Amino acid sequence: MFLKKFGFLCALLSLVMMAAFSTEASASQRFADVPATHEAYQPINYLADRGIIKGYNENGKQVFKLYNSVTRGQAAKMVVLGAGYQPLKVSQSSFVDVNPKTDPELSGFVERAASLGLFNTSNKRFNPYAPLTRGEMSMAVAKAFKLDVNKYASYPSPFCDIPTNHPYFKYINALYYNGIAQGSNGKFNPDSYLTRMQFSLLVARAMNAQFRLDVKPVTGQNPCQHQTAPERTDTIGRATVNDLNVRSAANASSSIIGKLNRGDEVYVISIDGWWAKVNYKGSVGYVHKTYLKLINQSGTAVKNRIIVIDPGHGGKDPGAVNGSYAEKRIALAVASTVKQKLERDGAVVYMTREGDTYPTLQDRVDFAQGKYAEMFVSIHVNSSSSSSAKGTETYYSITANDNELEDKALATNINNEIVKQADMVNRGVKREDYYVIRHSVFPSVLVELGFITNNEDLSKLVNSNYQEIFGNAIYQGIVNYYSN
Ligand SMILES: [Zn+2]
Repeated sequence: MFLKKFGFLCALLSLVMMAAFSTEASASQRFADVPATHEAYQPINYLADRGIIKGYNENGKQVFKLYNSVTRGQAAKMVVLGAGYQPLKVSQSSFVDVNPKTDPELSGFVERAASLGLFNTSNKRFNPYAPLTRGEMSMAVAKAFKLDVNKYASYPSPFCDIPTNHPYFKYINALYYNGIAQGSNGKFNPDSYLTRMQFSLLVARAMNAQFRLDVKPVTGQNPCQHQTAPERTDTIGRATVNDLNVRSAANASSSIIGKLNRGDEVYVISIDGWWAKVNYKGSVGYVHKTYLKLINQSGTAVKNRIIVIDPGHGGKDPGAVNGSYAEKRIALAVASTVKQKLERDGAVVYMTREGDTYPTLQDRVDFAQGKYAEMFVSIHVNSSSSSSAKGTETYYSITANDNELEDKALATNINNEIVKQADMVNRGVKREDYYVIRHSVFPSVLVELGFITNNEDLSKLVNSNYQEIFGNAIYQGIVNYYSN
């Protein structure tokens, strides 16, 4: 309630300020993610000043979300307003996927854009929530701003991927020769999607010559140097989330060339840091590997996987204690067994501690990040004031993160193997916000092997044969996770 009122006040205040001061002053700090030093600061504020774009309110801050893709619906609004048109009043939409009752604003802009012929549509569908491609963009901008497309249709294309018979050729040429779009590395990438930042730059350039680019003369069209991806590789990446961006380069600000949904598979060519280079529809693309389950096509299931094992506690912190027995020693013994078995299978394994030391919880999270971990398994021993409490339980984070389904699958695989192999009572898979798993987005779980305060569990926990069994069970759980 308070926040809502506050937001309203802010809106009022900024209106008052807009009236009182120059555009420049009102524009400062409008979006937390577009500081004055940002290359797109001026064009984005130019559009915001004119009500053509809006930001999002997130945790009380206005943000623009520069790198989100722009949808066809959002693009319709921006070109209609940018070119000086108004939305139409709609009682019945021309499109079955646009509802004037639930979204009157959207349907007004879509109807106007359609009446101007700015977008191709078929089967009475506008697809307002689909991301806009660069090809679609070229026609919408060229038509809305009445660029002289026929004049530039006789000019050579500067883009190796846009032959003269390309359906968007004349629009793309008009954009190029008017200094509105440039492409990258000699390509226009007509099927790529646009970020909100990229589309804002294009609209601002179309509206105002001061934002336009220098146009370099074009002599003749060069053939494209294709970066084709190998058809098959040794590793498949299966998307663990919906709407996963496939990018043109290994960084989060490069253009989006496509999307994967949960379960979609791509061949992984190589991995560098957080980025997997993949075959996306025959071309090279890049995906953040945290959202790919990496499945080996030959060798063992864990070969090359980067796995961080975290023996709980250590050093000054013994964890749960019963007489001379301490959780920290049991955890380290079992963790070492897991490491050895995973390494035998070719995994790349790191332990957050190898001896009786005490890394802080944040140290452990940072350690895993620094190793570009693909999985994090924390090993602990339980205790209770009741000596009858016994059995194994495995935790994953209660705080929803994008990979919670993977967390749960991993927890279930590990818990089941421990219960089976060490003949433990099954206390099940549970959710709890333990620090080390809450702060890791890659699949991360925390295992409580058994109770140090229960005689039956204790006899296993401190027995080196059983420590081997616990370790083998965790290893097998990890293998099972990667195998299905
Ligand atoms: Zn513990």
